[in-house]
Amino acid sequence: MTVLVVIEHDRGTISPASLEALAAARSIDSDVHALTLGAAADGAVATLAAHGAAVVHQVHDDVLADFGPEAWGEAVAQAARALQPQGVLTCGTDRGNEVMAQAAARLDLPMVANCISFAPGDMSSITRVRWGGSLLEQCSLDASTKLVTVSPHAFEATEAAAAGAVSVLSLSLDPSLARTVVAERVERAAGVTLATAPLVVGGGRGVGSAEAFAPLEELAAALGGVVGCSRAVTNNGWRNHTDQVGQTGTRIAPDLYMACGISGAIQHWVGAMASKKILAINTDPEANMVTKADYAVIGDLHKVVPAITAEIRRRRGS
Ligand SMILES: Cc1cc2nc3c(=O)[nH]c(=O)nc-3n(C[C@H](O)[C@H](O)[C@H](O)COP(=O)(O)OP(=O)(O)OC[C@H]3O[C@@H](n4cnc5c(N)ncnc54)[C@H](O)[C@@H]3O)c2cc1C
Repeated sequence: MTVLVVIEHDRGTISPASLEALAAARSIDSDVHALTLGAAADGAVATLAAHGAAVVHQVHDDVLADFGPEAWGEAVAQAARALQPQGVLTCGTDRGNEVMAQAAARLDLPMVANCISFAPGDMSSITRVRWGGSLLEQCSLDASTKLVTVSPHAFEATEAAAAGAVSVLSLSLDPSLARTVVAERVERAAGVTLATAPLVVGGGRGVGSAEAFAPLEELAAALGGVVGCSRAVTNNGWRNHTDQVGQTGTRIAPDLYMACGISGAIQHWVGAMASKKILAINTDPEANMVTKADYAVIGDLHKVVPAITAEIRRRRGS
């Protein structure tokens, strides 16, 4: 039976998490349909087909032009009523969770957030993460239409070609639904984001000051990565909250996370644990981050970090 995937996008730019959501849907059933809200996403058909969407349902309505949880939630609810899939699935981002919660309230149905696996062919048997990722819960969802969101990085956004037939859905959306909309966008200076960077150099309280992050910036730049940090750092005002990794920050999944002067408190760890490899640099051999890391250097980060950057430059002859 059909699994309908709501595609998160911003004026047509598809979020990488939406492609993970398509992979999650394919783990349940091969009959995967995508739902795009707003005409700006019409150009995404080829991408969605390449990731397994047999049908792409498009909704064209001015009220959906910019993201707004009420209008998007109502559109998802109406699409679910019209298409009657076994379930509706989207990514467990802030926006995805908000839209699905809106849809669930409008449909008067339960919703399960942060899922990481499903029983094949059956959306009622689910494993999901709770308490910031420190607990896995096996749950059973009893609903006529299953509404779920998928935890970021739980599924790999692999390709699987499907037809990608386009169907235009006609819904009735009142302009008054545009109560909260994204009105302004600020361009990021760098192209790579913390959530998608292949390499993150994280700094914690052990870095000591805002200025002392300069060597971490140099190391990240030398390796094509970005700098992240712990909450101790944002609490001290050394870096912006947008750089924070963790339960109340960004969840990262780089190929390598270099955690410098970070103790590895559970709230930080849940944001970093999806990293493929972790290198901890810490003076304390008993620090949580050190004991959980794949590699560790026990030493003063103020000496170790510049030494790594210097060695990279020496090997590159730069
Ligand atoms: C509800 C809630 C949500 C939270 N959310 C988050 C979150 O999203 N992200 C987050 O990070 N935290 C979060 N926290 C805070 C978390 O509990 C920790 O307090 C925080 O992660 C600690 O940051 P830290 O590791 O940088 O500092 P510390 O725990 O103080 O660790 C500093 C580390 O640096 C090492 N060090 C010191 N000097 C050096 C040196 N010269 N060279 C090498 N190593 C050195 C020390 O050995 C130590 O291991 C949250 C807490 C709560 C209650």
